[in-house]
Amino acid sequence: MNSNLNQHYERAKELRALLNKANYSYYVLDAPEIEDPVYDQLYRELIEIENIHPSLITDDSPSQRLGGIASKGFKNVEHNIPLLSLDNAFNVKELEAWYARISKLISSENKTVKQFDNPELICELKIDGNAISLRYENGILTKAATRGDGKTGEDITTNIRTISTIPLRLLLKNPPSWIEIRGEAFMPNNIFKKLNIERKNTDQPLFANPRNSCAGTLRQLDPKIVASRKLDFFAYSLYLPENWEQNNSNYKKPSSQSESLEFLKNIGFKVNPTYETKKNLQQANSYYRYWEIEKDSLAYATDGIVVKIDKFEIQNLLGATNKAPRWAIAVKYPAEEKATKLRKIIFQVGRSGAVTPVAEFESIELAGTSVNRATLHNSKRLSSLDLHYEDTIIVRKAGEIIPEVIRVIKEFRTVDSQLVEFPQNCPACNSKLIQEASEAITKCINPECTAKLKGLLRHWVSKASMNIDGLGEKIINQLVNEGYVKSIADLYKLEIDSLLELERFGEKSANNLLIEINESKNKNWHKQLYGLGIPHIGEANAKSLSKNFHSIEELNIIAKKAPENISNIYGFGNEMKDAIIQWFDDSSNQNLIRELKAIGFSLKDSLDSNYNSNQLNVLDGKVFVLTGTLDSLTRDEAKELIENAGGKVSSSISKKTDFLLSGEKAGSKLKKAKELGVKIINENEFRLLL
Ligand code: NAD
Repeated sequence: MNSNLNQHYERAKELRALLNKANYSYYVLDAPEIEDPVYDQLYRELIEIENIHPSLITDDSPSQRLGGIASKGFKNVEHNIPLLSLDNAFNVKELEAWYARISKLISSENKTVKQFDNPELICELKIDGNAISLRYENGILTKAATRGDGKTGEDITTNIRTISTIPLRLLLKNPPSWIEIRGEAFMPNNIFKKLNIERKNTDQPLFANPRNSCAGTLRQLDPKIVASRKLDFFAYSLYLPENWEQNNSNYKKPSSQSESLEFLKNIGFKVNPTYETKKNLQQANSYYRYWEIEKDSLAYATDGIVVKIDKFEIQNLLGATNKAPRWAIAVKYPAEEKATKLRKIIFQVGRSGAVTPVAEFESIELAGTSVNRATLHNSKRLSSLDLHYEDTIIVRKAGEIIPEVIRVIKEFRTVDSQLVEFPQNCPACNSKLIQEASEAITKCINPECTAKLKGLLRHWVSKASMNIDGLGEKIINQLVNEGYVKSIADLYKLEIDSLLELERFGEKSANNLLIEINESKNKNWHKQLYGLGIPHIGEANAKSLSKNFHSIEELNIIAKKAPENISNIYGFGNEMKDAIIQWFDDSSNQNLIRELKAIGFSLKDSLDSNYNSNQLNVLDGKVFVLTGTLDSLTRDEAKELIENAGGKVSSSISKKTDFLLSGEKAGSKLKKAKELGVKIINENEFRLLL
């Protein structure tokens, strides 16, 4: 075996073991061990290896079997027509590749019928439930079965009879001797939530998602329990005897998927109303994009859409593989969780001295963006993850939420791998780190630590403060390492000769940077205040402070003589008050104030400032959350407008939120705002408010 084959052999073995175990937990125990997108990602990796080396395909490979396993508690039923799965696409590109593939196949199979070119499509939501097959004999429901392995399922007729949206008798005159219907049984979200609350209160294990709780319910041996769980059903496929003589019937035999759905509605089934026929792939794409946002407002779970060729004639021409029809494809929504390989852990020292572990990993696409690092917050979180070097980790990023490492796949860990431990000493200055008792924070308390200074300088030059564009992290590191800068004030004493000694500086760029640094002295009072990096004083709080206290001297005196005036500010509390008192107590900060004043910083409200605190209080105390893309404002601009008008911007919706400012492609916040009854406004309404 060559080394590449050897590596693939080992990896395939590892993947097979993990996926088979996951299948058992998922299909038999209804209690998944890994997240669905992670399962999909690892399954795909296995398929890719098997495609490169077909000799590595083994009989026990999950690729050789269609999902489920019929459980022992129910009688087995052989399906008259196999119950297949669907092939998956994970993005629009893969959907296009599928369409190109089938178009080629259609034209190679059919040279004569013109209408087969650019075949019409039908788009449906992919309901995240369980495929069920229903058999009606002479119009009466006689058998209901799970998909099982596609050939044999479990007889769950008694349980299915409890679902009120499944007719026991069809509304069809002169029905044929048999009809088979397929569809998705599902548990509506509200029932799922209620069920899990009940299970939590009675110390029973929780269901991972509505699909697993639906599967668990359908496998209940007591139909009364099934009835109490209020499952629902959407029908989406219809099979009729080929020779059905329909003359005496009230409905015409369908010749396409869209006609089938109409037929199913007519004979008494609930059909998901969101389906649409589409003339081309672009239209199917718009459907996908539309439901990517709107899916969160549905009462049931959906994990993608299904695109099908509408006409049966073309479907028949394309046929099926032994796992899935060729004429349909499920297009799943971007994964919010994925597995990736940990590359290294960096222990970052912030400007306050707090040490934060940050995981760097192989880049992955999550919720539509590329991610390669995630904060692990603190030592407590790091040890709860039990992270080892080179671990396979699962990272989650939902919508606008920052990525987080949620767990490790221990099965992929090598025996000799080393535990990641939190350092005892500061990674920058090597002084002993201190664990703060009240907070889960580990700190470097060495006032001379250069990492703290670098953090403070990065903060000072950032967009929200001095906005010195040409002064990036690399230059700051060089300036500190070379000893040119020992405090914020030193930035303003820099000389061109020092800059020219640094990497990548020419005369012009050095001059430009010096001009930029000098011009930053004119920034508004609240930006100067924010830049000082007082703990807990972010942008919004710096603005509130600057409105209440019009100079650094005033704030200094208040902090010493009447600090309750600080904690009384809307949105402030004792923590912030104490942080400010402590900051002014520090002699090095008093020194910094003196130096900044000597350089020419006003450190006070200026009359000619375009930020005038008195005229803009129309949103005083109002809490805003932003979501989606606004027409003419960036998020930062909207935030600035809100804060200048006395409002606050929060990153998450709660009952305390006054307004959700919602733009195009709004995410899950829109749904939450609706649930909580938060007022939702668009950009125009926002401008009116201002
Ligand atoms: P699938 O969920 O990717 O999609 C196929 C199914 O979609 C069909 O069988 C049908 O039941 C359903 N469906 C919903 N709406 C439909 C519609 N409008 N038209 C046609 N079909 C529709 O495939 P699967 O074979 O059912 O399950 C495999 C998936 O299950 C995996 O991709 C994975 O996400 C999940 N899984 C997870 C684990 C785990 O450990 N987390 C283990 C095994 C499987």
